[in-house]
Amino acid sequence: MVKDRPSLLAVFAHPDDETFRPGGTLALLARHGVGIHVLTATRGQAGSCGDPPLCTQEELPAVRERELRCACAALGLEPPRLLDYQDGHLPEVNSEEITEHILTAVTEVHPQVLLTFGPDGLSGHADHMAIGRCAAEAYARRNEIAALYILAVPRSLAAQLEMRQIHSVSDEQITLAVDIASAWAAKQAAMACHMTQRSSTPLMSAPDARQRQFFGREFYVAAGCRDADMDFMPRILEEYGG
Ligand SMILES: [Zn+2]
Repeated sequence: MVKDRPSLLAVFAHPDDETFRPGGTLALLARHGVGIHVLTATRGQAGSCGDPPLCTQEELPAVRERELRCACAALGLEPPRLLDYQDGHLPEVNSEEITEHILTAVTEVHPQVLLTFGPDGLSGHADHMAIGRCAAEAYARRNEIAALYILAVPRSLAAQLEMRQIHSVSDEQITLAVDIASAWAAKQAAMACHMTQRSSTPLMSAPDARQRQFFGREFYVAAGCRDADMDFMPRILEEYGG
Protein backbone atom coordinates (compact mmCIF):
# COMPACT_ATOMS: atom_id res chain seq x y z
CA MET A 1 0.00 0.00 0.00
CA VAL A 2 1.31 3.41 -0.93
CA LYS A 3 1.44 5.61 2.10
CA ASP A 4 -0.13 9.03 1.61
CA ARG A 5 2.12 12.02 2.04
CA PRO A 6 1.18 13.70 5.32
CA SER A 7 -1.27 16.43 4.51
CA LEU A 8 -3.46 18.98 6.21
CA LEU A 9 -6.59 20.66 4.89
CA ALA A 10 -7.24 24.09 6.40
CA VAL A 11 -10.81 25.29 5.92
CA PHE A 12 -11.41 28.99 6.40
CA ALA A 13 -13.84 31.76 5.45
CA HIS A 14 -11.69 34.65 4.18
CA PRO A 15 -8.32 35.39 2.62
CA ASP A 16 -6.04 36.21 5.62
CA ASP A 17 -7.65 33.64 7.98
CA GLU A 18 -4.80 31.30 6.93
CA THR A 19 -2.14 33.82 7.94
CA PHE A 20 -2.84 35.89 11.05
CA ARG A 21 -3.48 33.07 13.53
CA PRO A 22 -2.07 29.85 12.00
CA GLY A 23 0.41 31.08 9.37
CA GLY A 24 3.61 30.23 11.24
CA THR A 25 2.40 26.75 12.17
CA LEU A 26 1.39 26.03 8.58
CA ALA A 27 4.82 27.18 7.38
CA LEU A 28 6.58 24.95 9.95
CA LEU A 29 4.50 21.92 8.97
CA ALA A 30 5.18 22.58 5.27
CA ARG A 31 8.91 22.68 6.01
CA HIS A 32 8.62 19.27 7.63
CA GLY A 33 7.13 17.79 4.48
CA VAL A 34 3.42 18.15 5.20
CA GLY A 35 1.37 19.17 2.17
CA ILE A 36 -0.75 22.10 3.33
CA HIS A 37 -3.94 22.79 1.40
CA VAL A 38 -6.09 25.82 2.14
CA LEU A 39 -9.77 25.97 1.21
CA THR A 40 -11.19 29.50 1.48
CA ALA A 41 -14.95 29.92 1.19
CA THR A 42 -15.09 33.56 0.05
CA ARG A 43 -12.86 36.12 -1.62
CA GLY A 44 -13.28 38.51 1.30
CA GLN A 45 -15.24 40.99 -0.79
CA ALA A 46 -16.79 42.60 2.33
CA GLY A 47 -13.36 43.55 3.64
CA SER A 48 -11.44 46.79 3.37
CA CYS A 49 -9.97 48.07 0.10
CA GLY A 50 -7.31 49.84 2.17
CA ASP A 51 -6.93 53.44 3.30
CA PRO A 52 -6.15 55.06 0.93
CA PRO A 53 -7.92 52.46 -1.26
CA LEU A 54 -5.63 50.13 -3.21
CA CYS A 55 -8.46 49.09 -5.55
CA THR A 56 -12.16 49.59 -6.17
CA GLN A 57 -14.82 47.55 -4.37
CA GLU A 58 -15.45 45.73 -7.68
CA GLU A 59 -11.79 44.79 -7.94
CA LEU A 60 -11.51 43.66 -4.33
CA PRO A 61 -12.42 39.96 -4.80
CA ALA A 62 -9.71 39.50 -7.44
CA VAL A 63 -7.20 41.55 -5.42
CA ARG A 64 -7.83 39.54 -2.27
CA GLU A 65 -7.57 36.28 -4.18
CA ARG A 66 -4.12 37.42 -5.34
CA GLU A 67 -3.23 38.34 -1.76
CA LEU A 68 -4.29 34.87 -0.61
CA ARG A 69 -2.19 33.21 -3.32
CA CYS A 70 0.74 35.44 -2.37
CA ALA A 71 0.40 34.48 1.33
CA CYS A 72 0.16 30.74 0.62
CA ALA A 73 3.31 30.95 -1.51
CA ALA A 74 5.12 32.96 1.20
CA LEU A 75 4.26 30.27 3.76
CA GLY A 76 5.31 27.41 1.47
CA LEU A 77 1.75 26.05 1.10
CA GLU A 78 0.01 24.57 -1.92
CA PRO A 79 -1.98 27.03 -4.06
CA PRO A 80 -5.33 27.70 -2.32
CA ARG A 81 -8.73 26.41 -3.37
CA LEU A 82 -11.46 29.05 -3.39
CA LEU A 83 -15.21 28.64 -3.19
CA ASP A 84 -17.29 31.42 -4.64
CA TYR A 85 -19.42 32.45 -1.68
CA GLN A 86 -20.17 36.03 -0.65
CA ASP A 87 -18.22 37.37 2.31
CA GLY A 88 -20.58 37.92 5.24
CA HIS A 89 -23.26 35.55 3.95
CA LEU A 90 -21.99 32.06 4.75
CA PRO A 91 -24.61 31.42 7.46
CA GLU A 92 -27.31 31.88 4.79
CA VAL A 93 -25.84 29.24 2.50
CA ASN A 94 -27.16 25.68 2.70
CA SER A 95 -24.65 24.06 5.05
CA GLU A 96 -24.94 20.73 3.23
CA GLU A 97 -23.72 22.44 0.06
CA ILE A 98 -20.66 23.88 1.83
CA THR A 99 -19.97 20.54 3.53
CA GLU A 100 -20.06 18.81 0.13
CA HIS A 101 -17.42 21.25 -1.16
CA ILE A 102 -15.21 20.46 1.83
CA LEU A 103 -15.73 16.71 1.31
CA THR A 104 -14.67 17.09 -2.33
CA ALA A 105 -11.42 18.71 -1.14
CA VAL A 106 -10.98 15.89 1.41
CA THR A 107 -11.31 13.34 -1.38
CA GLU A 108 -8.65 15.16 -3.42
CA VAL A 109 -6.21 15.91 -0.61
CA HIS A 110 -6.55 12.87 1.72
CA PRO A 111 -5.75 14.97 4.80
CA GLN A 112 -4.91 13.25 8.07
CA VAL A 113 -5.60 16.57 9.80
CA LEU A 114 -8.38 19.10 9.30
CA LEU A 115 -7.89 22.62 10.69
CA THR A 116 -10.68 25.18 11.00
CA PHE A 117 -12.50 27.57 13.32
CA GLY A 118 -14.23 26.34 16.45
CA PRO A 119 -17.87 26.99 17.34
CA ASP A 120 -17.02 30.49 18.67
CA GLY A 121 -15.42 31.54 15.37
CA LEU A 122 -12.49 33.02 17.35
CA SER A 123 -13.48 36.59 16.50
CA GLY A 124 -17.16 35.68 16.68
CA HIS A 125 -17.53 36.34 12.92
CA ALA A 126 -20.63 34.49 11.70
CA ASP A 127 -18.75 33.30 8.58
CA HIS A 128 -16.07 31.72 10.78
CA MET A 129 -18.69 29.94 12.85
CA ALA A 130 -20.52 28.70 9.74
CA ILE A 131 -17.42 27.35 7.98
CA GLY A 132 -16.20 25.76 11.23
CA ARG A 133 -19.51 23.91 11.64
CA CYS A 134 -19.34 22.58 8.09
CA ALA A 135 -15.72 21.48 8.48
CA ALA A 136 -16.58 19.68 11.73
CA GLU A 137 -19.40 17.93 9.88
CA ALA A 138 -16.97 16.89 7.14
CA TYR A 139 -14.65 15.48 9.82
CA ALA A 140 -17.53 13.57 11.39
CA ARG A 141 -18.37 11.94 8.05
CA ARG A 142 -14.90 10.84 6.98
CA ASN A 143 -13.21 8.22 9.11
CA GLU A 144 -9.95 8.60 7.21
CA ILE A 145 -9.34 12.03 8.77
CA ALA A 146 -7.33 11.30 11.92
CA ALA A 147 -7.76 14.57 13.77
CA LEU A 148 -9.66 17.85 13.82
CA TYR A 149 -7.95 20.95 15.20
CA ILE A 150 -9.44 24.39 15.80
CA LEU A 151 -7.77 27.76 16.14
CA ALA A 152 -7.68 29.04 19.70
CA VAL A 153 -6.32 31.80 21.91
CA PRO A 154 -5.67 31.02 25.59
CA ARG A 155 -7.38 33.26 28.12
CA SER A 156 -4.07 34.32 29.72
CA LEU A 157 -2.75 35.68 26.41
CA ALA A 158 -6.02 37.42 25.57
CA ALA A 159 -5.94 39.09 29.00
CA GLN A 160 -2.27 40.02 28.75
CA LEU A 161 -2.73 41.61 25.33
CA GLU A 162 -6.16 43.04 26.12
CA MET A 163 -7.72 41.27 23.15
CA ARG A 164 -11.26 41.99 24.23
CA GLN A 165 -12.94 40.98 20.98
CA ILE A 166 -11.46 37.52 20.85
CA HIS A 167 -13.26 34.40 22.13
CA SER A 168 -10.53 32.81 24.24
CA VAL A 169 -10.48 29.42 25.94
CA SER A 170 -9.06 28.41 29.31
CA ASP A 171 -5.32 27.73 29.17
CA GLU A 172 -5.89 24.09 30.20
CA GLN A 173 -7.94 23.50 27.05
CA ILE A 174 -5.02 24.31 24.74
CA THR A 175 -3.67 21.15 23.09
CA LEU A 176 -0.77 22.71 21.18
CA ALA A 177 1.13 25.94 21.77
CA VAL A 178 3.54 26.74 18.96
CA ASP A 179 6.37 29.26 19.19
CA ILE A 180 6.78 30.22 15.56
CA ALA A 181 10.04 32.17 15.91
CA SER A 182 11.76 30.05 13.26
CA ALA A 183 8.93 30.77 10.80
CA TRP A 184 8.57 34.44 11.73
CA ALA A 185 10.00 35.78 8.47
CA ALA A 186 7.59 33.64 6.43
CA LYS A 187 4.63 34.76 8.51
CA GLN A 188 5.62 38.40 8.16
CA ALA A 189 5.94 37.97 4.40
CA ALA A 190 2.47 36.39 4.30
CA MET A 191 1.00 39.22 6.40
CA ALA A 192 2.58 41.72 4.02
CA CYS A 193 0.74 40.02 1.13
CA HIS A 194 -2.59 41.07 2.64
CA MET A 195 -1.98 44.72 1.80
CA THR A 196 -5.64 45.72 1.52
CA GLN A 197 -6.17 44.69 5.16
CA ARG A 198 -3.31 46.78 6.55
CA SER A 199 -5.39 49.87 7.40
CA SER A 200 -8.04 47.80 9.21
CA THR A 201 -5.41 45.71 11.04
CA PRO A 202 -3.34 48.29 12.95
CA LEU A 203 -1.07 45.57 14.34
CA MET A 204 0.36 45.03 10.86
CA SER A 205 2.05 48.41 11.23
CA ALA A 206 3.08 47.94 14.89
CA PRO A 207 6.74 47.59 15.94
CA ASP A 208 8.20 44.10 15.53
CA ALA A 209 8.20 43.33 19.26
CA ARG A 210 4.50 44.16 19.53
CA GLN A 211 3.68 42.08 16.47
CA ARG A 212 5.58 39.13 17.91
CA GLN A 213 3.53 39.33 21.12
CA PHE A 214 0.33 38.96 19.11
CA PHE A 215 1.39 36.79 16.22
CA GLY A 216 4.53 34.99 17.48
CA ARG A 217 2.74 32.15 19.23
CA GLU A 218 -0.12 30.12 17.78
CA PHE A 219 -2.53 27.89 19.68
CA TYR A 220 -4.79 24.97 18.88
CA VAL A 221 -7.38 22.79 20.52
CA ALA A 222 -7.79 19.21 19.33
CA ALA A 223 -11.55 19.05 18.79
CA GLY A 224 -11.43 15.45 17.64
CA CYS A 225 -8.94 12.62 17.30
CA ARG A 226 -9.71 9.14 16.07
CA ASP A 227 -6.17 7.98 15.31
CA ALA A 228 -3.33 9.45 17.37
CA ASP A 229 -0.71 7.57 15.32
CA MET A 230 -1.79 9.32 12.13
CA ASP A 231 -2.03 12.76 13.76
CA PHE A 232 1.33 14.34 12.91
CA MET A 233 0.62 17.65 14.67
CA PRO A 234 2.03 16.83 18.16
CA ARG A 235 4.94 14.89 16.69
CA ILE A 236 6.11 17.78 14.51
CA LEU A 237 5.05 20.75 16.61
CA GLU A 238 5.78 19.80 20.20
CA GLU A 239 9.43 20.77 19.77
CA TYR A 240 8.19 24.32 19.11
CA GLY A 241 6.05 24.48 22.23
CA GLY A 242 6.20 27.99 23.61
ZN1 LIG B 1 -11.99 35.74 8.58
